[in-house]
Amino acid sequence: MPKAILRDKVGGVTTLPVETGQSLLDVLRLAGVPVNAVMTQVNGKLVSEDSVLIGADDVVEVFQVRHYDLGVTRAPSQRKYAAVDPVYTKSVLFDDKGDLEVRSEQFDRDSYPQFVESVFIDSITSGQTIRDGDRIVLGLSGGRDSIALLKLLERTRDRLPDFSLTALTVTGLPDWEESATFQAAVDACHRLGIEHVIATAENVQDVFALKVPFVEAMTRVVASDRSASIMVIAHQVLRRLIEIEADKRGVADIAWGFNADDLLASLVTWWMSGFRMGGLPVRQLGDFRYTFPLYRITKKELTLYLELTEPAWNRQGAPGRFTTGPDERSMSYAIADHLLGLWPGADYYAFNAFANMQRYQEPLATEACEICGGAFIPQAGYPGPKNLCDVCDVFSRMELVRARR
Ligand SMILES: [Zn+2]
Repeated sequence: MPKAILRDKVGGVTTLPVETGQSLLDVLRLAGVPVNAVMTQVNGKLVSEDSVLIGADDVVEVFQVRHYDLGVTRAPSQRKYAAVDPVYTKSVLFDDKGDLEVRSEQFDRDSYPQFVESVFIDSITSGQTIRDGDRIVLGLSGGRDSIALLKLLERTRDRLPDFSLTALTVTGLPDWEESATFQAAVDACHRLGIEHVIATAENVQDVFALKVPFVEAMTRVVASDRSASIMVIAHQVLRRLIEIEADKRGVADIAWGFNADDLLASLVTWWMSGFRMGGLPVRQLGDFRYTFPLYRITKKELTLYLELTEPAWNRQGAPGRFTTGPDERSMSYAIADHLLGLWPGADYYAFNAFANMQRYQEPLATEACEICGGAFIPQAGYPGPKNLCDVCDVFSRMELVRARR
């Protein structure tokens, strides 16, 4: 029988579960021990952890290389408020003058929707994502998050500030029309008395001065070496069409259905790129105030919420070629998800930190794109396109833009 022990830096010796035939990487992973934190010997001989399969009588000794307590993530101190037959546990790491404790509250099928709704109400009131008297245009993709947002509004309206809402959906790409969820969005708007406006592919072609139909432009981008930009383009197109609609109505508030892990993943991207980004959960960009009313609710929580309140709306197809992002996007989401597991409530900490940082940063400078008119943030030290947003830059480099007047 193989044996594995961890000699940690706080004087402890712990036995790690290990089986013959297992990879050493799996032994460490299952024990919550990062490879970078240790040096390892097998039968007294130093090894590179990724090169070892455990043999029948191996003795594995894992030495922690730095003095800190791995127990904070391997076995954090915990307080649990249990429920019978829980469907979800909300955990948040509390930091009391440096002492950490994970507090977890469980919810059953009946209490879970109220939990999400109370978080939502708090995101709106204390997060100031919707204020009394606001007139708002909401970007409605027809995807699950925007549907969940409508559902939450529907069920909490009497406890929210008084505001008026127009929803805008951009149609025109085959992938964008998830007929089931799209119809659900139309129905929900109707029930809520929300005006639902539709922008078409022709509108997009017009705003971005494309000389070919929008679908053709996007198809060419997907087939090119710029295919990684496809989701950025899709978002920006939606954003610009919404701004134009808001402008027409004299509305300055624009709400988005991005959730907590979307925003946490964008902070991961920001952390690794350093590119300037507007505030969370409210950002002023050009003439518009953008808000993220779902910023305290994760994708998992939204999905579970729909599953328990409107299961029929939870069925969504696989992403298509215009709604699939590059590896780098997946990396940001994966890091955000792992981080939430290691540091429950990391989103709360990161958003507060980011808000702090907004206070000491230079005011956000924006420029207007010469083609679509959208505001963009020029990045210091990055030789970006002159006077063009990223999207119009891609379109014009690919010669998809009409000659300028
Ligand atoms: Zn542009």
